[in-house]
Amino acid sequence: MSVEESDAKAEAALDGAMRVASTPQAKQAVLDAGLTFRAWQQWRDAKTEKGTIAMPDLTKEQREEFRRKLTEIDAVLDPLQAECDKAVKAARAPFTERLDELEAQREEVLESVDAEVRGNCEGCGVVLFFGDMGHTYRDATEIVECVKCAPTWNEEMASVDGPDDFEEPEDYEHFMAVCREHISEGRGNEKNVWEL
Ligand SMILES: [Zn+2]
Repeated sequence: MSVEESDAKAEAALDGAMRVASTPQAKQAVLDAGLTFRAWQQWRDAKTEKGTIAMPDLTKEQREEFRRKLTEIDAVLDPLQAECDKAVKAARAPFTERLDELEAQREEVLESVDAEVRGNCEGCGVVLFFGDMGHTYRDATEIVECVKCAPTWNEEMASVDGPDDFEEPEDYEHFMAVCREHISEGRGNEKNVWEL
């Protein structure tokens, strides 16, 4: 099959696909396939017939031809992109409105008692406010845990592998001393929590 024949066959296939495309999405898919095919065709023609010519080497005529080709693609691509942007904007609209409403409601609820959210419990997801009892991690203070999910002193001590877990050796010594103190007081099963 010659190049012309195979091109004609591909064009016929695209035409056929466009005729049976019943939804806007299907039509768009065919248009996209057409664009991809023509871009590939141009690349192939440039390679096989004209060789690889860089933009500065083009004659005035070739430059205009190139401009025309790109303009042809843009003529299909730009309106399609605009249509796509419009569809995305329309799809987002009801969510944006509702999200803004809920965000405002949330602010109102928090401001009514001057509350500030510290975070959601890493374990169970419950919302924790500043002033709640809870636990944070020494090396990741953005992580908070509620009383139920927080570790006990026994668990705290068991979680330490060694001094390498701490930046400074003194920190390790201090942490272990505090753990041992609580455990020796019979409070090993109590949670290590404080006011957040
Ligand atoms: Zn929790």
